Amino acid sequence: MSMKNPYLQSVLDGLKTRNAHEPEFLQAVEEVLESLEPVVDSDPRYERQNIIGRIVEPERVVIFRVPWVDDAGKVQVNRGYRVQFNSAIGPYKGGLRLHPTVNLSVIKFLGFEQIFKNALTTLPMGGGKGGADFDPKGKSDGEVMRFCQSFMSELYRHIGPDTDVPAGDIGVGAREIGFLFGQYKKIRNEWAGVLTGKGLSYGGSLARTEATGFGLCYFADAQLRDNGQSFQGKRVVISGSGNVAIYANQKCTQLGGKVIAMSDSNGYIVDENGIDYQVIQQIKEVRRERIKAYLDQVPTARYVEGCAGIWSVPCDIALPCATQNELDETAAKALISNGCIGVFEGANMPCTPEAVAAIKGAGLMFAPAKASNAGGVATSGLEMSQNSGRISWSFEEVDAKLKGIMEGIYQACADAAQQYGKKGDIQAGANIAGFLKVADAMLWQGVC
Ligand code: NDP
Repeated sequence: MSMKNPYLQSVLDGLKTRNAHEPEFLQAVEEVLESLEPVVDSDPRYERQNIIGRIVEPERVVIFRVPWVDDAGKVQVNRGYRVQFNSAIGPYKGGLRLHPTVNLSVIKFLGFEQIFKNALTTLPMGGGKGGADFDPKGKSDGEVMRFCQSFMSELYRHIGPDTDVPAGDIGVGAREIGFLFGQYKKIRNEWAGVLTGKGLSYGGSLARTEATGFGLCYFADAQLRDNGQSFQGKRVVISGSGNVAIYANQKCTQLGGKVIAMSDSNGYIVDENGIDYQVIQQIKEVRRERIKAYLDQVPTARYVEGCAGIWSVPCDIALPCATQNELDETAAKALISNGCIGVFEGANMPCTPEAVAAIKGAGLMFAPAKASNAGGVATSGLEMSQNSGRISWSFEEVDAKLKGIMEGIYQACADAAQQYGKKGDIQAGANIAGFLKVADAMLWQGVC
């Protein structure tokens, strides 16, 4: 793809040369820069101060060795990452991912997206991301603990409540955050709100667990209503069965939708009677089993091996909540021909660029992840506020704030799209609204 604006094109060309082996990162940057053309055209300061050239370069990247001992007494080594991408509007903030596919490209794409997502929440949080190529699947609690302790033995020197506050992501839930927090506290000899997603007994926020999934549905509901639709009576397909997917199921069911399919990386289940999120929660969060185990408890469901086929299940609303690039052009075409009315991203960058073009081209509603899944980090921001103030809000208070934030993000995206001649294009609106806030802060702070 080529840009009409020569400055944007030159930044992209330079980035491609320097990061030729980082496809996910380049994909994320290209998508944002394309939306920014009217913004950069309208204000010469962005080029004069080279704001785009600076915003695509991380402020700092830390890569480190993570040695740990497995249950058989064997020494294992993984590679850890923390990308501190942009701190113009607040301390770096973004999750830690533990998955065998983690590499620098994946962490940089996630960190880059996080800059704009965090800006959209209206809370003072910069963008960052981290993780390791460690696979928690099949590991004992002891192995996961030893890995987390080793990971934090290096990470602690780069983070802090006013510097960088990591959270969970794929493979990092309440168990891992607990082990990471314990190690940070031991090394620093201080109790600090340095991680979010903490347990309720030690500084966590009510509704943080539910926040990304609930927030996704609040956002989708706002977009649906703006287009004269609602969740009421709609058949919903959700990919994944992790943190985001489980609570997206709970909220969209409450809003009147019926979730008829969910997946994990092995396959998917279909039940036209509706999938019970509490059964999934038990299987995935408590027993740590495969989604196929759903059939043992709910015999009306059927299981299909292979996760990609989930998008061929006819539905009205699609919520991809598993991982990046899980919904390609073929999947998008299947959704379109089955009469789907909207795709709302719960995972980060789950739709390929070709899929997004097909979805938007066919006139379906499309919600980009950096806006529609911002509820998790927004509630992490609320957790940080509660930690700083030594207070805790009720579930209802946090949930009400989350709903208000998600509706506000939808409106900000819709308004920005309209202002820059892209009415109804929520993807462009999200990029523009997030960028304007961060770029303004960077302009005020000089060349740094
Ligand atoms: P979890 O680790 O809790 O769950 C991930 C789920 O996705 C698992 O069920 C996993 O299955 C499944 N999965 C992975 N790859 C595929 C695939 N190719 N097809 C189908 N299912 C797959 O992660 P989260 O729910 O926390 O994160 C999911 C996505 O949401 C990620 O993109 C993450 O970055 C994003 N996100 C998460 C936030 C949060 O607050 N947790 C906040 C914002 C974004 P299996 O068990 O087989 O691996």
